[in-house]
Amino acid sequence: MPSNCVIEIDNKLYKGAIKLNTGLFIDGKWCDPVDAKEMIDVINPSNGSKIAQVSLGSSKDVDIAVKAAQKAYKTTWGLKCPGSARGRLLNRLADLLERDTDEFAALEALNVGKPFNMAKMQDMGGAIQCIRYFAGWADKIHGNTVETNELKLAYTRHEPYGVVGQIIPWNFPMLMLSWKVGPALATGNTIVLKPSEMTPLSALKFADLVVEAGFPPGVVNIVNGYGMTVGQAISEHMDIAKVAFTGSTLVGRKVLEASARTNLKVVTLELGGKSPTIIFDDCNLEQTVKWASAAMYGNMGQSCVAGSRIFVQEGIYPQFIEKFTAVVKGLASATGDPFTSTTQHGPQVSQTQFDRIMGYISSGKESGATVHIGGDRHGTEGYFIQPTIFTDCTPDMKIVQEEIFGPVAAIMKFKTEEEVIEAANATTYGLSSCVFSENISRALRVVHALESGSAFVNSAQLVDSSIPFGGYKQSGIGREHGEYALAT
Ligand code: NAD
Repeated sequence: MPSNCVIEIDNKLYKGAIKLNTGLFIDGKWCDPVDAKEMIDVINPSNGSKIAQVSLGSSKDVDIAVKAAQKAYKTTWGLKCPGSARGRLLNRLADLLERDTDEFAALEALNVGKPFNMAKMQDMGGAIQCIRYFAGWADKIHGNTVETNELKLAYTRHEPYGVVGQIIPWNFPMLMLSWKVGPALATGNTIVLKPSEMTPLSALKFADLVVEAGFPPGVVNIVNGYGMTVGQAISEHMDIAKVAFTGSTLVGRKVLEASARTNLKVVTLELGGKSPTIIFDDCNLEQTVKWASAAMYGNMGQSCVAGSRIFVQEGIYPQFIEKFTAVVKGLASATGDPFTSTTQHGPQVSQTQFDRIMGYISSGKESGATVHIGGDRHGTEGYFIQPTIFTDCTPDMKIVQEEIFGPVAAIMKFKTEEEVIEAANATTYGLSSCVFSENISRALRVVHALESGSAFVNSAQLVDSSIPFGGYKQSGIGREHGEYALAT
């Protein structure tokens, strides 16, 4: 009998008992894994305590989920369901997400450690917008007519793939889920999705809304489990036509390899980043500091687009450091319980991530960078790390080259436009970038020279469902969002 649990939360920002099914969601029903032995412990990163246990799937469960998804594709979805009906269901789903926003935000705050109000606004606001955006596309997908040399008429049709696999990370569980589910359902595919084993709770609640919205059984299937088993089984499955993966570059490579070894399924990858923020002398300093700090420390630095390499032109360097430090001090004093309304900075997601980030901080210190502020854990329990600034950084340092995925900024001084373009491009990543200058000609010249999937001028990391999103170089393959997502 599939299990469930009740999560009780009682504080000023959220008070309630959230009931969750903790099994696998396959063919519109909750079920136990075929090999129902171990469970996955779900941890609260604010104090390391166990929140719940969820079922642990295996490749056998992926197989069953794929069969259910195939059946749904052939009988009730895919080409059997008109786009307008798919759009209506997606809109209904978005309405239900909106109705339950507080519950979802509470689950994200508890399980990921993000401040409740941010989870509500950014994660849930973004997820709802995304589902509505793609609902709007569902009945507007069409091909072209083409005239041939022989004056015959040909036409193109945009057809779904069939069953698609979706593997998502822990940093924005509901947001990443919506980015995957929205376009796949709008275009008529059926889904086998694996949430991160660290943050499965909101996806479980989402499954109940899929039923309530009225989606036919088998259109969305959710299999919890580890990457090496469930994730790999999705990547290798012969009857999955496409896998959309968001996560680390290391694992993205494995997903691509699995596709190459098996059925050459289409793979889209949204991977890591080490995004540059470039600040020229003539910037609007107040605005720049606001955007640069949000780009760096938002979601405790656990963002693929985090602006973690900050290049500051020498003329404005002292003023920038002074103002940026003041903002970071404010963040440090607003660190704590995600369910307190004044909290702006919560814990890192897990002990593993905490250790990894502390390792990078040690590496920065050992390689000669200066800890300008922070550089240590915050408090004594949970996985809190102080927002940290390193100065005196050089391009060869690990903290400048590698994705830290935590609240650690590397600040560097530069003289010329040419020099900073070269330095900004000198990583294996190319996800996002920001340029701050009141000279718009220069700002545009620089963003066009950056090897980066997205680039922002006098602003930062504006992620919107209508704007294509994805990486250059080892930050990924393919684009999510916007019209581009319908074609990938
Ligand atoms: P991760 O790569 O460790 O895991 C991502 C997902 O892949 C998880 O669900 C995991 O269980 C699964 N997985 C692990 N091993 C697997 C395997 N062998 N085969 C198939 N699936 C497997 O990443 P993470 O730690 O969850 O997330 C952090 C990373 O995600 C960072 O590098 C970050 O930059 C990236 N990220 C990128 C974007 C983007 O849009 N570009 C967005 C969010 C996060």
